[in-house]
Amino acid sequence: MTEPHGISADAVMQSADQLKNLRPAYQELLTFFEAVFLAQEASGASIQIESPRISPDILRKRISEKFPILDMSEFIIDSKASLSLMNTLCDIAKNGNETLRTEAVSVLQAIETGQLDPLALFDYQLKKHDAPPALPGVSSTVINFLGYNSILPSLAACSHKASAILETEDPWKTGYCPICGSMPGLSTLEKEGERSYVCSFCRHVWAAPRLFCAFCSNTDGKTLHYIYSDQESEYRVDACDVCSRYIKTIDMRKTSRRIYPPLEMIATIHLDILASDAGLAPVYDWNPMGL
Ligand SMILES: [Zn+2]
Ligand SMILES: [Zn+2]
Repeated sequence: MTEPHGISADAVMQSADQLKNLRPAYQELLTFFEAVFLAQEASGASIQIESPRISPDILRKRISEKFPILDMSEFIIDSKASLSLMNTLCDIAKNGNETLRTEAVSVLQAIETGQLDPLALFDYQLKKHDAPPALPGVSSTVINFLGYNSILPSLAACSHKASAILETEDPWKTGYCPICGSMPGLSTLEKEGERSYVCSFCRHVWAAPRLFCAFCSNTDGKTLHYIYSDQESEYRVDACDVCSRYIKTIDMRKTSRRIYPPLEMIATIHLDILASDAGLAPVYDWNPMGL
């Protein structure tokens, strides 16, 4: 089973070990992200946030129109936990390659001298207004990677709390996340062949139609197809001929491995290259992992 919510250290470690054996080419990348996800798991255990407050009228309207339950600005961030996690992530990055190490040191120094306000960076991840905080010598990819991954435990906790609102609803089966409105980063086919999506932003998992394009809602089997290889039968790339978008899918019926979706997204970058070569674009427009 995929992990329905939150982050499990056990799942991260088991999944990383199995993937490193299976795909040695990803060893370095998986080791880096395993450390990132474990730090998030540890941080998630200490998250203290209240449930998002939405007026009953607004909530009713959103539900009746199948609008996402939360506006991005309504996510609640545990600033203290996120700040501490950002420091840990910078330390992890210092063990990375030369460029990453130099940039992580610059970020830590900028926080210390007040040149970079981490709270403004966290805020930017949610509201995307103005321009992202910039630092000389540090790429915007690294700044956004650190900002997003530092608030992710808060996002997942908040999303989990908000998902309780939908418990009495029939599944919406939308292409966008019912909680935050983002597009899925990955899909799974479960044991009975039912499809689930994993949100690329808040990690919410929701049910989707089996034959469906998340991007344009196409349900015509004649214009939906998938690409897969015999060597990796648990993976496939689901593609839509109408909008030329794709999503990577794990067929859970074809593997007994422990699945931790964020690691699977990383261990399948070769499928993104395959899809790109076939003229396809992902269903999401931004990649929170910065990959
Ligand atoms: Zn979401
Ligand atoms: Zn489509």
